[in-house]
Amino acid sequence: MGANMKVGVVKEEIRMQGDIELLLKLQVIDYDLGELERSKEYLPDMMGNLNSEIQDTQKKLEETSAALEEAKITQKNLELEVKTNEAELQKYQQQMMNIKTNKEYDALVAQIDSVKSTISVREQELLETMEKTDTLKAELPEIQKKYEQLKENNSRQLHILQEKIDSIGDTIAAKEKERAAILKQVPKSTMSIYERVHRGKDGAVVVPVRRRSCSACNKALTPKKIQEIRRNNRINTCESCGRLLFWDDNISD
Ligand SMILES: [Zn+2]
Repeated sequence: MGANMKVGVVKEEIRMQGDIELLLKLQVIDYDLGELERSKEYLPDMMGNLNSEIQDTQKKLEETSAALEEAKITQKNLELEVKTNEAELQKYQQQMMNIKTNKEYDALVAQIDSVKSTISVREQELLETMEKTDTLKAELPEIQKKYEQLKENNSRQLHILQEKIDSIGDTIAAKEKERAAILKQVPKSTMSIYERVHRGKDGAVVVPVRRRSCSACNKALTPKKIQEIRRNNRINTCESCGRLLFWDDNISD
């Protein structure tokens, strides 16, 4: 091997090392770009959830408040009805003093029994309504507090998410610019391998060797292949998944 050829190999190795570094940078940018694209979908979804949460709690607050008002009105009406029934009862009981016939007596007793049973039913209803009123009265401030906290927290998050959405375009443009700058430096043949894997596979395109295997698909590599990858003088791909393989002294073994 002549001296010139040796220099050529060393130069080639340095260049390949540089290519791998560029591809690793590229893959980080592509990952970020993928995330940014996905965020166009999930950020509005997240905002939708935060808004629904506010609306649901607001609805619950309004419903509880309306139920309390209704219970209060029912309670008042029942109290009035019981009062009316009690006055009626008193009237019948006074009529008892002036009873002249058995027939009149029987009729009045029947009326008294009827009013008494009406009062009993209404008092039971009143009791239940009062319990309901108490429960709602206790619940209302808690729901109100929850609603206010939720509104404050969610509004803050919504604001952050909106800013993210608004900046997606600019962030993507900046990443694309970085990408284009790297693309100029990577040989076309290497780039076409990268692009093919990138389109076809999820996750990383350029992966280190680990335990003498491709760290993405775990395909075992032949000693010859490992030697080639370690020598790093040409682009090596995994036979199984097609990803670009590299050796990193800190990771590979
Ligand atoms: Zn593989």
